[in-house]
Amino acid sequence: MIGKIHKQMSHDSWLFSKMATPEYTPFVFLLLLFQSSVWGFPSCHATKPGMLNVHLVPHTHDDVGWLKTVDQYFYGDRNDIQHAGVQYILDSVVDQLLKNPDRRFIYVETAFFYRWWKQQTDDMQNTVKQLVNEGRLEFVNGGWCMSDEATTHYSAVIDQMTMGLRFLNDTFGHCGRPRVAWHIDPFGHAREHASMFAQMGYDGFFFGRLDYQDRNRRMVAREQEMLWRASESLTPPMADLFTGILPNGYNPPEGFCWDQSCDDPPIRDDPDLEDYNVDDVVTRFLHIAHGQALVYKTNHIIMTMGSDFQYENANLWYKNLDKLIRYVNQMQSNGSEVNVLYSTPSCYLQELHRANLTWPLKGDDFFPYADSAHDFWTGYFTSRPALKRYERISNSYLQTCKQLEVLGGPISRKGPFGAGDSETLSKCLVYTLSSHSSAMAVAQHHDAVSGTEKQHVANDYARKLANGWAHCQVLVSNTLSSLSGSSAPRVYCEHLNISVCPLTETSKKFSVNVYNPLARPVSWPVRLPVNGTAYRISDAKGKAVDSQVELLLVRTTYSLSTLLSLSLSISLYPSLSLSISLYPSLSLSISLYPSLSLSISLYPSLSLSISLYPSLSLTPSYSLYPSIIISPSQSFSPQPSSLLSLCASIVTLRDFLSSLFCVCLSRYNASDGNNSESIQMSGAYIFRPNTSTPFIISKTNSVVQEVRQWFSPWVSQVVRLYTDSRALELEWTVGPVPIGDDLGKEVISRLDSSINSSGVFYTDSNGREMLQRRKDYRPTWNLRQSEPIAGNYYPINSRAYIKDDKDQLTVVTDRSQGGGSIQDGSLEIMLHRRLLYDDVRGVGEPLNEMSDIYPEGLVVRGRHLLSLSPPATAADTHRPLAQEVVLQPLITFTDGELHPSTRLEFSGLQAVLPPAVHLLTVSQWDQDTVLLRLEHQYQASESKEHSQPVTVNLQKLFSTLDVLGVSEMNLSANQWKDEMTRLDWKAESGTHHTGVTNQLSAYSAL
Ligand SMILES: [Zn+2]
Repeated sequence: MIGKIHKQMSHDSWLFSKMATPEYTPFVFLLLLFQSSVWGFPSCHATKPGMLNVHLVPHTHDDVGWLKTVDQYFYGDRNDIQHAGVQYILDSVVDQLLKNPDRRFIYVETAFFYRWWKQQTDDMQNTVKQLVNEGRLEFVNGGWCMSDEATTHYSAVIDQMTMGLRFLNDTFGHCGRPRVAWHIDPFGHAREHASMFAQMGYDGFFFGRLDYQDRNRRMVAREQEMLWRASESLTPPMADLFTGILPNGYNPPEGFCWDQSCDDPPIRDDPDLEDYNVDDVVTRFLHIAHGQALVYKTNHIIMTMGSDFQYENANLWYKNLDKLIRYVNQMQSNGSEVNVLYSTPSCYLQELHRANLTWPLKGDDFFPYADSAHDFWTGYFTSRPALKRYERISNSYLQTCKQLEVLGGPISRKGPFGAGDSETLSKCLVYTLSSHSSAMAVAQHHDAVSGTEKQHVANDYARKLANGWAHCQVLVSNTLSSLSGSSAPRVYCEHLNISVCPLTETSKKFSVNVYNPLARPVSWPVRLPVNGTAYRISDAKGKAVDSQVELLLVRTTYSLSTLLSLSLSISLYPSLSLSISLYPSLSLSISLYPSLSLSISLYPSLSLSISLYPSLSLTPSYSLYPSIIISPSQSFSPQPSSLLSLCASIVTLRDFLSSLFCVCLSRYNASDGNNSESIQMSGAYIFRPNTSTPFIISKTNSVVQEVRQWFSPWVSQVVRLYTDSRALELEWTVGPVPIGDDLGKEVISRLDSSINSSGVFYTDSNGREMLQRRKDYRPTWNLRQSEPIAGNYYPINSRAYIKDDKDQLTVVTDRSQGGGSIQDGSLEIMLHRRLLYDDVRGVGEPLNEMSDIYPEGLVVRGRHLLSLSPPATAADTHRPLAQEVVLQPLITFTDGELHPSTRLEFSGLQAVLPPAVHLLTVSQWDQDTVLLRLEHQYQASESKEHSQPVTVNLQKLFSTLDVLGVSEMNLSANQWKDEMTRLDWKAESGTHHTGVTNQLSAYSAL
């Protein structure tokens, strides 16, 4: 039996049911046996109570890809781009730690450490284990990488953390479990990340970057260390996380960088020599330490002694640090009250905890991040939109792949189509670098999905994802073959987004197999390029399926061509009728073949003059879709009248149709740095338009049903409303962005509505809880706004909305993007950006994506789903909608007639999960055990119906999974839930700043 869970529950029976409270409480169930000892802080050096204790933390920051690929960084290849070789860093650090037991080092990125570990001898591995056991080498953070916080989705972040932490657990046991989360480089910090870290059992969190105005205020108020209350749904302290801001980003104090890459003077301590400088060094150090102590609360301060890829020759650092500690502490005999010590983040954290103080409470997040008045890091929310989409769809593939690995059992990994893998089975295979999981894990890095890497590195991430998906395809084919009883080859059409699928375009008869990774029914539109004019389609039970063939306009870079496109909408229900094995979801097959008897209705009068982009005025031939009426928008739009004639408003004639909105695609011209206020240019990280007024790209044309809008030769949009959908689909296509005028461009989609939003809008945090945003406002300090557009942009990972008493307009995105509400009633989302200058934040390249396929510049296509509902019920629509976009059905094809014995449907679910419960993870953990994550996907109070506790009966969830026992884990599955003990922290009273709702009093006080 597959997915047997081996740890017998203690008594009663193995029936396991659990109350889930609203929002997360992601029950993670597992089954590993851990040693149960509790790691304290035994290895920290003693501190001196009456003195200022300076904790020196030797560290290196090793990007899992940025200017070089992850492989180049590991081996130290291409040092002409950047001198960096991680393997040498670890070699050198271990060697230096052994030379002096006082020395400490922390290591962060498990993707690198794992590679290094594999190459070590048994002796060396034992030596390193001893260093870890003695606390001389400490892992912090410990995920596969240090994920980006603005552009990642929680599902992928949890996976990559689980992967890194599992390696540390399996290799080092409890002493290898990081106690501290460490995001020293990401460009702004998400509340959901803090919530996840708390639920993963971390005691504290440190980071380096925050808005310069915020930092200045916090320094004066001594509020650089705080308690982050990171969820409004979870009962404190479940999502409380102690959070500290590091003093110098993550660099050493000025004048104290002793890496081979630095130029600061070494400590010259031979008094016989002329250039003896110990007194000078000690004086400067004491000055800095006293200064730093003024802006922190306790008599403990931390100094990060290291930076990017440092410690390749660790002797330089340690030799000087040894001396620094010795000479500074010698001054104590002369009355100095400064005590310096080797330390780690967890030792420092322990001292803060011992101080037994109360800490200011933080309720919102740390976006957007600006490092000075005209330098808002809000461009990367959208940078590399194609990579961002590829990362998101890859996560959907990965979750499906993991589910089908559980479903298929051993045959999924070795079956008729060869050897496949997701990432789980044996401990070795888990971390195979070619696997899809590790490609996904690496892609979460803060210079990967963020879009802030060099072009060749972006290409490498995409190549790794493609390679991982190829491994998964074999697994998926094996499982589907086993479950259906048909070994017919499966075809994966990966270019359906550009209407390319050779099989459906040429085959006379083919089958479509749709796998729904969600544990509830969905209705999913399928659009296929075909060559026939009409098709007879039947579902698994032989019932006819409605469809429509229409003429599709396909624009290549230079011309328009036409293609037929078949649309149908399928309903996917969990099926109880077949007894095929396990697990949620369902797959159904539909046969499609051309029919001679039916004639196709095409839209009338589609002429070839379309290549000139004239006005299209098409009337519907027949209506699969409900009507959409287009009317001019003058009557309600809050926009300046000059824009009005260019927008169309759409009235949707469905149950949600009460309000009006209009959609415009516009662009900002990017700043080239030639500006009287600042020379800052727009680049991969930074968004800075050269004016605050967007340019309307061109006139819209509109038709009913499927409205095609051509704004210009390089910007178009299709508006669709499917019969059974609760949302309007906007499919945008942008590119190649022209740069003939020597200006970079940042293209936005702007939705204007009559909603009275009063300067307030809402964005999600990593795809989960919603945060309230207010124009030109920050909840925890008085903002001096200096960039009216870029300073009001926030990350949108899955959705954003505006609302008033009557209506809520929600946009669900298919990837992470940046956006804001610059005018009341308006929501704008940046789609694509093409820039001509580097923004001087390190990447050293303009964000100007071109390739052999797109020599004129990258063309990107994506979807926005719009829903309009009364605010009270809006979440009931956008929560399931966003999950459908994140975990979308996998469509595969088989050519020709199916064998009559082929099984066409199966479901591993006995029944669908309650609407509030999302099936987040099902993956094989080891041979007999399965990791299951269930999530309450509604935020507290957002839905009358669904924001309620809900009970799930695990016994009755799976139709064939034989559950022998269940154990609950923390979120990252590296600790038993009942052994999870975290440090408790006390909040100052009256300092709670929340990100959502209840803001009115704070706001009116401004
Ligand atoms: Zn970095």
